[in-house]
Amino acid sequence: MRRARRTNRELASTYPDAHCELDFTTPLELLIATVLSAQTTDKRVNLTTPELFARYPDAAAYAAADREDLEDILRPTGFFRAKAQSVIGIGQALVERYDGQVPRSLDDLVTLPGVGRKTANVVLGNAFGVPGLTVDTHFGRLVRRLGWTTEEDPVKVETEVGELIEKREWTMLSHRLIFHGRRVCFARRPACGACTIAQLCPSSGVGETDPVVAAGMVKTD
Ligand code: SF4
Repeated sequence: MRRARRTNRELASTYPDAHCELDFTTPLELLIATVLSAQTTDKRVNLTTPELFARYPDAAAYAAADREDLEDILRPTGFFRAKAQSVIGIGQALVERYDGQVPRSLDDLVTLPGVGRKTANVVLGNAFGVPGLTVDTHFGRLVRRLGWTTEEDPVKVETEVGELIEKREWTMLSHRLIFHGRRVCFARRPACGACTIAQLCPSSGVGETDPVVAAGMVKTD
């Protein structure tokens, strides 16, 4: 636990501006953007959402959306038919059951079409200020490399990491780990030689250890 908390503090120094990389201004926008982010990048989603949010300003608009129009807008994000189905379903569920508002509880959020725990925790943490651990592919890979868990199942990962890290840190820890996974601790060949938490990481050395080569691998944007 002490090592995990120290690692979180080091990551906080490394990424003082860690944040949700999806663009949004309301809980509904974040919910929709997070659903669209499956199997694609946040940057790709951010290119698509300005038009989407302008055309569909509220839950009722998604509920009444023409499927083909919506699919055309969502096409660049991939899996656009399934995503359009989810987005229309979310609009309908919000109108029918939640007065058009995004609910503030995990139990309610996961009843919405296409919304799992990861998406629910993104919305809770970033739109409502409720601490949440966002176990995506980066988060899972990093906490296993860091030796915080051996679990593969996201719910078990969430539970084990939740026992190590203070609840108030959960949302920011998620951002920091995801930032680190995108910029340094890559899936295939992590840049261990340029990693600020290498001394706290039992997997240090699984990737590139030469400091100069590793520094050249780090993504900076
Ligand atoms: S030392 Fe290597 S494996 Fe460990 S967190 Fe850093 S980049 Fe990832």
